Amino acid sequence: MLKDRSCGELRASDEGQIVTLAGWVHRRRDHGGLIFIDLRDHDGLAQVVFNPQEATGAHSVAEELRGEYVLQVKGAVARRREGTENPNLPTGDIEVHAQEATILNPSKTPPFYITEDQEVEELLRLRYRYLDLRRERMHKNIVTRHNVLRFIREFLSERGFTEIETPILTAPTPEGARDYVVPSRVNPGRFYALPQSPQQFKQLLMVAGFERYFQIAHCMRDEDLRADRQPEHVQLDLEVSFVSEEEDIFQLAEELYSSLVMGLFPEFRIQEMPFPRMTFAESVRRFGSDKPDLRYGLELADFAPALQNTDFQVFKNVMSSGGAIRGIAVPGGASWSRKQVDDLTSFVQQYGAKGLVSIQIGGEGDMSALTIDDVKSPVAKFFAAEEVREMASLAGAGRGDMLLMVADKPTASNRALDALRRELASRLELADPDTLAFCFLTDVPLFEWSETEERWTPAHHPFTSPHVEDIPLMDTDPGKVRSHAYDLVCNGWELFSGSIRIHRREVQLKVFDMLGIGLEEAQRKFGHMLEAFEYGAPPHAGIGAGIDRLMAILTREPDIREVIAFPKTKSQGDPMTGAPSAISPEQLAELHIEVKLAEESAQA
Ligand code: ASP
Repeated sequence: MLKDRSCGELRASDEGQIVTLAGWVHRRRDHGGLIFIDLRDHDGLAQVVFNPQEATGAHSVAEELRGEYVLQVKGAVARRREGTENPNLPTGDIEVHAQEATILNPSKTPPFYITEDQEVEELLRLRYRYLDLRRERMHKNIVTRHNVLRFIREFLSERGFTEIETPILTAPTPEGARDYVVPSRVNPGRFYALPQSPQQFKQLLMVAGFERYFQIAHCMRDEDLRADRQPEHVQLDLEVSFVSEEEDIFQLAEELYSSLVMGLFPEFRIQEMPFPRMTFAESVRRFGSDKPDLRYGLELADFAPALQNTDFQVFKNVMSSGGAIRGIAVPGGASWSRKQVDDLTSFVQQYGAKGLVSIQIGGEGDMSALTIDDVKSPVAKFFAAEEVREMASLAGAGRGDMLLMVADKPTASNRALDALRRELASRLELADPDTLAFCFLTDVPLFEWSETEERWTPAHHPFTSPHVEDIPLMDTDPGKVRSHAYDLVCNGWELFSGSIRIHRREVQLKVFDMLGIGLEEAQRKFGHMLEAFEYGAPPHAGIGAGIDRLMAILTREPDIREVIAFPKTKSQGDPMTGAPSAISPEQLAELHIEVKLAEESAQA
């Protein structure tokens, strides 16, 4: 090797050793005579001193050095002079007195500072990702990710799991997104789909008798991107046979996540052990969301019971048409300014709310003495003191607080109230950054009604088992059929979803039928699954657990791109490689493909 020690590992105990280091010039300081270089490698930084008297040749090499030059240096480890130690650096007690130095490769001036964690435009970072990844925070994130994956692999291997890879070129497997497809050259007009998940294969591995499978799997889904989404994400895909109930999976998951946190991230506190369980319906009712952040309260209140005789026409209309008046009590909100409240109104409007009604409860003394003069609200004149008192009590509010309310159909207002709740928590700094609030969500419905497609769609995926006692409801009230699907949420993110699977052909056919997939189509698309179920498929269940999201939480990053080595931009491109790119006419011809662009995309 061109090095025998790494920069970051040197300590005072190495004093007197002659070492050969190689790395990148992180910083160079010329003190007119002595030249100091911070040399950086994968493990950290070491200070190297070039003295023109002691090592003339090495010193003249150092004169040529610029940031990011690749340097090999041989020298003696020495303690730093008293008073010049750097307690912020693990190697801060020592320096290396250079004897010989060789430039292994020069470097152009990087387009942004590697040495500082300053804001750099996203496109530039991704265009030069190999430089971006040299930066300390990013480098650390990627190493931390490796440590997490290694922990997971060891944890599962010790528990009898087998890691098995499944194909990337495959047939479509539905997870609710569009497929990325790959044309087949040797089968003209035919396409592979990239897996939205290894769902079918892992179930088939259960039929194949492996009993406990896992894989760190890439899943490709063509959908609109957000902070927690990428065209391809990595998940811990896992499946277990002979599971009798959700609890079997929950116990495994709880042990995995809690031992991971305690082992590698002891700076976090797990809010509640065992992880609490909540039904999907309860989560939506209390938080307007199926991924609630449970580090703080701000639960949604239903104000309808206090408003049975309201004079406020807007509320009356909403309630008589099946809508709800729900909202949140903001502690200390009575003193918020008009502008602060108006800002929140525009905020919730972005999430589809028509408006936000605010009631600020001022005055002093017991709530029983509340008069309408104590209340500040643009619609105060429609309320009696008694109603405000009741609403406050429903939301757990008192004097000094504020009620914020959205009037709409519950499903329509959930999005706005969920966003409002998160926004309030951030303004009030209620979410403890050192706490992890895990929670299992259970009883996810089997089907969701899609307004746009006007049909039932799977809430999870079509291989999810219904509750057996709910099967008759499929014919009468499909929306009421509970499934054996579940999620794990943490701090407002969905960390995994999974389910107990269907393992009987007739149940699978029934679910396909409900989803509008007739016998012929089921046979064509999923015949292999239906057939496999006839050869002794064991009862089985599993999860697909997002690794990128988990890493974002554990590294406290707001965006999963900060924990992925080579992510895509929001428009699904990779500015470094130029993907996706056009291909040559010859390649197209070979693939039997003719490209016809719509006019606007051709111009773009
Ligand atoms: N295949 C599912 C997903 O990717 C996870 C599972 O059900 O195991 O969301």
